[in-house]
Amino acid sequence: MKLYNTLTRQKEAFKPIEAGKIKMYACGPTVYNYFHIGNARTFITFDAMRNYFEYRGYEVNFVQNFTDVDDKIIQQAEKENITPEEVSRKYIEAYFEDAESLGIRKADVHPRVTENIEEIIQFVEELVAKGYAYELEGDVYFDVTAYPDYGRLSKQSLEELKAGARIEINERKKNPLDFALWKKTKPGEPYWKSPWGNGRPGWHIECSAMARKYLGDTIDIHGGGGDLTFPHHENEVAQSEALTGKPFANFWIHVGYLNVDNRKMSKSLNNFFTPREIKEKFDLEVARFFILSAHYRNPINFSEESMEAAQHGLERLYTARDNWNYYIEKLPLASKEDDQILEQIDEFEKRFIQVMDDDFNTADGISVIFELVKTINGYLNRKPGKEVIQKAVQVLNEQCSVMGLLIKDDHADEILENEIKDLIEERQAARKSKDFALADQIRDDLKSKGIVLEDTPEGVKWKKI
Ligand code: AMP
Ligand code: ZN
Repeated sequence: MKLYNTLTRQKEAFKPIEAGKIKMYACGPTVYNYFHIGNARTFITFDAMRNYFEYRGYEVNFVQNFTDVDDKIIQQAEKENITPEEVSRKYIEAYFEDAESLGIRKADVHPRVTENIEEIIQFVEELVAKGYAYELEGDVYFDVTAYPDYGRLSKQSLEELKAGARIEINERKKNPLDFALWKKTKPGEPYWKSPWGNGRPGWHIECSAMARKYLGDTIDIHGGGGDLTFPHHENEVAQSEALTGKPFANFWIHVGYLNVDNRKMSKSLNNFFTPREIKEKFDLEVARFFILSAHYRNPINFSEESMEAAQHGLERLYTARDNWNYYIEKLPLASKEDDQILEQIDEFEKRFIQVMDDDFNTADGISVIFELVKTINGYLNRKPGKEVIQKAVQVLNEQCSVMGLLIKDDHADEILENEIKDLIEERQAARKSKDFALADQIRDDLKSKGIVLEDTPEGVKWKKI
């Protein structure tokens, strides 16, 4: 398998440190609000990647953190008139709800900053002891000049970075690029006791400390959205490698932006949509399909039209599966199998692995799934064999479950229920406008489909006969 590594800016053969096992860390959300579908792109990418590794037989240990100490959380607490802890608790719960509706599984560990303060303080203490960090009136900063490789991940030299750095007013740091590992407390903020007085961790240190605690000094894959390459991930590399003297992550994977009108979807631009909003119009599985229809490194544009196209695509997959299952259950099938088609299905399995092994190309992976659907649908016109259809259903399910798609078993029932509800509403409207002929016709149509209506004091009820 090949993966594009931000460290080397090229696709490299991926080999885990320990055969058969993968240690993967992805930067999770800052829990001050509901996440938006741009954030979801990054979460979905790592979730599907984890599924694919498992499909290929690896055991994956996946860690995704919650940043539950942050300025934005403190501000939100003031806005909602609750404590910062209540804010993060509320939005962690919301994360799990929204993630579930997008088919994102829970990580093996979801560590939180507030539960790892001891490890963070220890990490900072060691950096100070080794001369990579210094204290300044209750703050602790990482000294970027003490770490010669600073800039390696984002491919910038220290000189270039210095030239571009913003000189802040009242800056007391040795170098404007030095970043806070520990921040002295301000009135009204949550704080913890430390060797440098009361304070709280800076942002970057949490991922270094938690990745080390849960996965070890060197991990296989570290990922996040592209905006995290600099400074967040650059700083993580500096802290971790300064401390351990070992490579922090062998592969750095960055997900392209989900855009709106070609601009990155973000809270600050106020051009964002949350899964909660999208759910009112589309099933969230559609959003997942839309996101995985592109290669994870390419930018994608979120729009109503692209979601509608995704809806049609997903619908085609569900219809194919429902149809094939119908053949298996209801129709007489040929006892003679078509070996050529069976071979073709094998080919689709190989091809799926081939494209997904090439830097996790889910766009091509989904194309392979559609080729399978097209081939089998064409084959249904001839008298199909049971083994062929069963195999096709199995492969379709396997490949789609890698993507986290086709997760609803009762899809056919759901469509039927919606159709029935629509017809009942139409009949009610017909009755209201005294079009009794139409109302009766709808009742008869439903009856011919095996659905009988009952007018009750609580409204119209229906049942299957
Ligand atoms: P945050 O809560 O802002 O720290 O973001 C959580 C994750 O979402 C990080 O990995 C970000 O890089 C990622 N992210 C934020 N905005 C986008 C976007 N528009 N497209 C893709 N990923 C994003
Ligand atoms: Zn991080």
